Amino acid sequence: MQGLREKCGIFGVFAPGEDVARLTFFGLHALQHRGQESAGIATTDGRKLNIFAEMGLVAQVFDEDTLAGLPGHAAIGHTRYSTTGSSVQCNAQPFLIKGALGELAIAHNGNVVNADVMRVDLESRGTRFETTTDTEVLGHLLAEAAPSNWQDGFTTMMRRAVGAYSLVILSKEALYAVRDPLGIRPLCIGRLNGHGWVFASETCALDHLGADFVREVAPGEVVRVDEHGLTSTFPLGDPAADQALCLFEFIYFARPDSKLDGQLLHPVRMRMGARLSEEHPVDADLVIGVPDSATAAAIGYAAASGIPYAEGLVKNRYVGRTFIQPDQRLRERGVQLKYNPLREVIQGKRVIVVDDSIVRGTTTPRVVKMLRDAGATEVHMRITSPPITHPCFYGVDMATRGELIAANMDVDAIRDHIGADSLGYLSLEATVDATGLGGGRHCTACFSGVYPSEVPLQFDKFALESEASRPDHEIPMVAAAPATVPLTAR
Ligand code: AMP
Repeated sequence: MQGLREKCGIFGVFAPGEDVARLTFFGLHALQHRGQESAGIATTDGRKLNIFAEMGLVAQVFDEDTLAGLPGHAAIGHTRYSTTGSSVQCNAQPFLIKGALGELAIAHNGNVVNADVMRVDLESRGTRFETTTDTEVLGHLLAEAAPSNWQDGFTTMMRRAVGAYSLVILSKEALYAVRDPLGIRPLCIGRLNGHGWVFASETCALDHLGADFVREVAPGEVVRVDEHGLTSTFPLGDPAADQALCLFEFIYFARPDSKLDGQLLHPVRMRMGARLSEEHPVDADLVIGVPDSATAAAIGYAAASGIPYAEGLVKNRYVGRTFIQPDQRLRERGVQLKYNPLREVIQGKRVIVVDDSIVRGTTTPRVVKMLRDAGATEVHMRITSPPITHPCFYGVDMATRGELIAANMDVDAIRDHIGADSLGYLSLEATVDATGLGGGRHCTACFSGVYPSEVPLQFDKFALESEASRPDHEIPMVAAAPATVPLTAR
């Protein structure tokens, strides 16, 4: 099955004298929400790389013995959400790759849209692949393009790779952190105990380790840390003007206690809720959020509308994401296993329910029914994002556009499908406004169909149909060569 795939979490640390494997374990644990399928850590002691990666949650994969087998002064780690399939185990990251300059370990968050073309090219020149991921393509590109020094390797890799890649890379001597020129996926830098350096997908991982936030890795930047300290280069020239940080990170993915581009997400989400109440007001008795991701937005909606906020749904925190169930029947049951309504709160009330997104339309009708069964007299659904009409090629993939409910139905039809009394989506303009960062800094492709890079045409047959309505500055869709092997995203 090619389902919706979640983004991954990456972490890196360079800290001589510290237990870097354990620090990485804690860092990955803080990033567990970004991927629950596999976890892995690689370390270097200056002489060789050590690696351990397996399927499962971070705390299931690692124990005292496995951590003790990862000595060194620098480490990288990865938590991954992948699709089901026989190759999943071998796709667990970090990967070890042998190249002209020796071994390297690589961990990746994002999705490279032209990986299949580059893979065919590398294979024709004799490269053998052990996994089906775009990450391995990046690793080989780097390793094989670096005949004399790493800098050449990064320049070649970044010239050729199109799409999203936040990377942490470990050689025997150094730790590298890399962000694609559009900065589609986040990556930040922290200082640990005054002498170490930390890299993480989200700032919440720095907080848990007591590391101080220094700055984000800039779009197009390669940061290198070794015993001499930190150096920064931009292999493709100065930082690109057009940044495209994923808007969905602000809406759903990142934790509310993380900062993205300097903005703490909890107040960002409260602002989204407040704007939603202005754009879609309705008379009601209560505002509730679908926990946990929409809680901040529901509080914001309630505060701005003057309608009381209440906890109306309790979430069982130990149920995995409903999304990751392999078939629709299990996914539907998942919603029921995950939420339980508080009948005493809801009974006889007109309820506004805030959620962050409707993707396939699996969760929302079940939530609405659950609330009606618990005695709600009216259920008004409010969504803190615009309708998702286009697939993401940068780390959250849909197999077909046909799976996206908003690509196939208008808002009235979706309202009928979910069984709500009313349905309101936040406008794209208000969603972007709520980030506090101004326009032109985000990737809005899943809402707008405007992709910040070329994307493979074969994945989105509808894209050309809407081409005429696209803004002039947009790069046209191009067809990538047919994939010989399905490439999976991290
Ligand atoms: P759906 O049930 O397919 O309409 O998905 C919408 C629900 O899933 C919402 O409650 C979201 O909070 C949540 N959600 C949105 N995107 C994702 C994702 N990539 N992975 C897991 N859950 C998601």
